[in-house]
Amino acid sequence: MTLAGSVRTSSALDVERIRQDFPILRQTVHGRPLVYLDNAATSQKPQVVLDALTRYYTEENANVHRGVHMLSELATRKYEAARATVRRFLHAAEDREIVFVRGTTEAINLVACSLGAGVGAGDEILISALEHHSNIVPWQLLCQRTGARLRVAPMTRAGELDLDAYQAMLSDATRLVALAHVSNALGTINPVQEMVALAHRRDIPVLLDGAQGAPHLPVNVQALDCDFYAFSGHKTLGPTGIGVLYGKAARLEAMPPYQGGGDMIRTVTFERTTFNDLPYKFEAGTPNIAGAIGLAAGLDYLQDIGMERIEAYEAELLDYATGALAGVPGLTIIGTARQKAGVLAFVLDGIHAHDIGTILDAEGVAVRAGHHCAMPVMQYYGVPATVRASFAFYNTRAEVDALRSGLGKVLEVFA
Ligand code: PMP
Repeated sequence: MTLAGSVRTSSALDVERIRQDFPILRQTVHGRPLVYLDNAATSQKPQVVLDALTRYYTEENANVHRGVHMLSELATRKYEAARATVRRFLHAAEDREIVFVRGTTEAINLVACSLGAGVGAGDEILISALEHHSNIVPWQLLCQRTGARLRVAPMTRAGELDLDAYQAMLSDATRLVALAHVSNALGTINPVQEMVALAHRRDIPVLLDGAQGAPHLPVNVQALDCDFYAFSGHKTLGPTGIGVLYGKAARLEAMPPYQGGGDMIRTVTFERTTFNDLPYKFEAGTPNIAGAIGLAAGLDYLQDIGMERIEAYEAELLDYATGALAGVPGLTIIGTARQKAGVLAFVLDGIHAHDIGTILDAEGVAVRAGHHCAMPVMQYYGVPATVRASFAFYNTRAEVDALRSGLGKVLEVFA
């Protein structure tokens, strides 16, 4: 029986059908069917995304915004249509609020540099204890440049943010709050709507790191009321090298450019440059046109299924996986928040995470072993590394079973 053939689920998703859209999932690894459980690192790509990329380079390739010729106009139309697709995906109000960047990391660095221009000594940036390095280091660099102070809202052993402590840390000195929507190391879904509202009571802008939110949950930036939302194309079925910074128009208008170059200007003389309108003010140089088009194809695919259905299916799969792994002797799950997205991180008594990852790989099961770019989270739990299985809507219960039996092998090897 193939993995796809053994899909059993009460959810409305036809995962067997869906899996056929992902050519890479047909592979075998070390002679075993690939069980890809490293979706928090990057998602796999459906054929429609691969086709959009090939079509672009085969039939549509030209530079955007500058040409009067047919291909340039076509490429420009498709690039701008991709922006509109992202706007719909995030339920943003306007296309000009969507800035294409390289990924979540660049989006956060953009805000840290540009909004950070108004930050000085005595100011504070507030993040949380469960952030990815991408949402720590840019703020540390900003604090080093300006003399501002980085503050960290604490979390509980379950991996939930302590909302009272968070609220108490918001002050007149806070210039910005930057929070993960969903933790990549623990799976925690933070109560971001409430946290944004608390910050807004003091007029503090909030950036949400949506790298793990956008692929798994419906996102409505207007309902969340966040000032910025960042996510990566490669985790939302798109290619690498493309991502999005959403920013409220008024916020982006008030911010200076991040990088200088072509496209972001209106007029240039040696004495003075005036800048282009949003979003181009933040898109210096030739953008990743193919990337934006590929990302839009990925987001359309997600929306065709429906983010609510994806969320429900993945929640069911996570419950199943949590139950399946609970019985493994010596296994401790790291990250037991009440609200979790499809991340299952764990340690096994006396066995290093890398050894577990290597043995699972031999069984065809791809998981991540390490600190997951969240070293402070590892320090908090007193572990050097965890094993992380992370799910997508194309994963199945049979694949969870393969993980479970792979862990049986691990225990045999280390018996
Ligand atoms: N934040 C979180 C929560 C992430 O999971 C990741 C990717 N692992 C990032 C930021 C950085 O994303 P990227 O490497 O695509 O810029």
